[in-house]
Amino acid sequence: MLKNTHYDNFLQLNGIQHFMFCPRQWALIMIEQVWSENEDTTIGNLVHKLADDRYLEERRKNRIITRAVPIRSYELGLNGIIDVLEFWSSRTGIELKNSTGLWFPKVIEYKKGKPKKNLSDTLQLVAQIMCLEEMYSLEINSGEIYYKQINRRIRVELNETLRDEVRKTSKKMHELYVQGKTPHATVGKNCKRCSIKEMCQPRLTHHKRSVQNYINNQWEIINEKAIE
Ligand code: SF4
Repeated sequence: MLKNTHYDNFLQLNGIQHFMFCPRQWALIMIEQVWSENEDTTIGNLVHKLADDRYLEERRKNRIITRAVPIRSYELGLNGIIDVLEFWSSRTGIELKNSTGLWFPKVIEYKKGKPKKNLSDTLQLVAQIMCLEEMYSLEINSGEIYYKQINRRIRVELNETLRDEVRKTSKKMHELYVQGKTPHATVGKNCKRCSIKEMCQPRLTHHKRSVQNYINNQWEIINEKAIE
């Protein structure tokens, strides 16, 4: 198990999926503040909107369903929003405001597509659960990811390997963020469906250079030509 750390600043938890997709994409969005929507991200946002109603709280006999719940972890230095957080009546649960009895949390993360071959969705869910564990001083052993394309929830069991992977990933994100470093482009199949390909210019920027520098250089060339 990795040694626990405490960060003073927070990064966005959903950055984990960008970082797993491509560290350069994460850095361009989080460090250089470049963003672009493609069809994938637009549909993704719509799926999230369905789950994202902060004021909606449903109460059923043995379950309370809350949405758009803010979370954070000092150990990971991450914060974010959980799409749907259910609380189930349980003797091992916690007390909740305005509710009698004890309630055990279950996270449900919404995704537009289908299960991926990589661990990005899983690590995002594990990070969310680790935030809750820290906030509620509770051990939570599983969560679920709902995939719209297959209209099914997939259960994810937590273990120390997954938790350590989240710790390692958040550590790398913090290191890059502090250094303000954008990794160089690695041209691969992800580039084809990358939402910021136009800004990244992977074939032109495959050595370490920030997009802002690239844009500045391009402007200089254009201006020089205009003066000639
Ligand atoms: S275009 Fe390729 S290298 Fe550039 S950010 Fe996207 S996935 Fe990464």
